[in-house]
Amino acid sequence: MYIPETKLPRVVIIGAGFAGLQVAKNINTKSYQIVLIDKNNYHTFQPLLYQVASTGLEPDSIAYPIRKILQNKKNAFYRLADVSKINIDSSTLSTNIGEIAYDILVIATGATNNFFGNDSLQKNSLPMKTLIDSLNLRSKILGNFELALNEKNPERKEALLNFVIVGAGPTGVELAGALAELRNNALPKDFPDLDLSGVKVTLIEAAPRVLSAMSEIASKKSEDYLKGLGVTVMKNTRVKEYENNIVSIEDGSSILADTLIWAAGVKGQFPAGITPENIVKNRILTDGYCKMKLSSNVYVLGDVAFMQSEEYPNGLPMLASVADQQGRYLGKSLNSLARLKTVKRFIYQDKGHMATVGKNKAVVDTKPLKFQGIFAWFVWMTIHLMLLVGFRNRAVVLVNWAWAYFKSNNSLRLIIRPFHSQKTH
Ligand SMILES: Cc1cc2nc3c(=O)[nH]c(=O)nc-3n(C[C@H](O)[C@H](O)[C@H](O)COP(=O)(O)OP(=O)(O)OC[C@H]3O[C@@H](n4cnc5c(N)ncnc54)[C@H](O)[C@@H]3O)c2cc1C
Repeated sequence: MYIPETKLPRVVIIGAGFAGLQVAKNINTKSYQIVLIDKNNYHTFQPLLYQVASTGLEPDSIAYPIRKILQNKKNAFYRLADVSKINIDSSTLSTNIGEIAYDILVIATGATNNFFGNDSLQKNSLPMKTLIDSLNLRSKILGNFELALNEKNPERKEALLNFVIVGAGPTGVELAGALAELRNNALPKDFPDLDLSGVKVTLIEAAPRVLSAMSEIASKKSEDYLKGLGVTVMKNTRVKEYENNIVSIEDGSSILADTLIWAAGVKGQFPAGITPENIVKNRILTDGYCKMKLSSNVYVLGDVAFMQSEEYPNGLPMLASVADQQGRYLGKSLNSLARLKTVKRFIYQDKGHMATVGKNKAVVDTKPLKFQGIFAWFVWMTIHLMLLVGFRNRAVVLVNWAWAYFKSNNSLRLIIRPFHSQKTH
């Protein structure tokens, strides 16, 4: 891989997600050369993927080109590459476009879906982890309505119109609410000739409550919101298998559905070359300074990092806020080290949790305050707008949301990816 040689130490960052981007932004390139590597040429704002899937936003408004982010930074280089192996002994990376040497390595490769070893769910369910996943989902959801319109077989029609989401964390809850709103608001205008009473959105959760990482009141309120929108919520329910359009539940019951969306688990993803003693619960073990255990020049951040503290014995949560804070911390720490200053340990500042279920419906938990409803919804929107990268994206998202607020009928319902439908046997 060609990168200009300089006398400065080279920091190679794998992953331009929340963590990797913040390192690149905060590092002083008078002290370091930066090489940022990502297998996509854009940064994805994952918290809003569900809005792309449910036709609320266009994909370009939640993604941002990495080259544009680095445009004004001297000594910073981006390479579109997939890193397959980290060669710790030689301080090099193997990628699909050749090898690259590093002085300091930052692993910020994020997470991937975790199906907990269940082959049928992995093979047949639809994930929502990338922009492409979301576009596939959007095309599939809209395609199913088109297919249902002409379907004569009642069982097949039922399956086409049943949407099952597994996992009632923020992703599952937000997607279920958005799909219900799509059914309630836009579809009657688009499909006046389709009986929409057959469209069902079911949210399945193994735990006794939805949004189990949030307060009891947030769980209760969000469940009420979901039910108000017409979502069927099944708690204490574990999906066993999904084959031939049949969602099999552990208690022996089943649901006929052509679409099962998996939002029930993620696990760290990272290239080969990490020794097993550094891997804990599918994540890479770090010390309190974000440094990989047993290493002197490898740092690990965000979803892929397993950093324990007294408050978080099971590791910091896999959240954008953790990744963002760790990225800023490491950028500044490396600057301090370049000036031969000491650095402090990383301390995560938990600023709270939030989720939205639909228009005027959100739940927010902060340490001093827990609130729900329209004010929570405005807080949710403001924070998400602020976190988006790029002024254009913020403006486009704001206009889309304002339009949706007043009209509930945008024009983003395009089927632009090939979609397939499972066949009942
Ligand atoms: C649908 C969804 C909704 C979410 N909602 C919220 C929310 O509301 N609030 C919240 O706080 N968090 C939310 N999260 C979690 C949040 O998005 C993650 O915690 C955050 O993205 C982690 O940041 P990261 O930098 O560790 O990894 P990521 O943002 O995942 O970035 C990792 C980057 O590494 C790249 N990469 C991976 N492997 C390689 C490789 N081998 N070679 C080259 N490049 C590679 C990827 O392309 C990607 O760009 C959500 C996640 C999802 C999927």
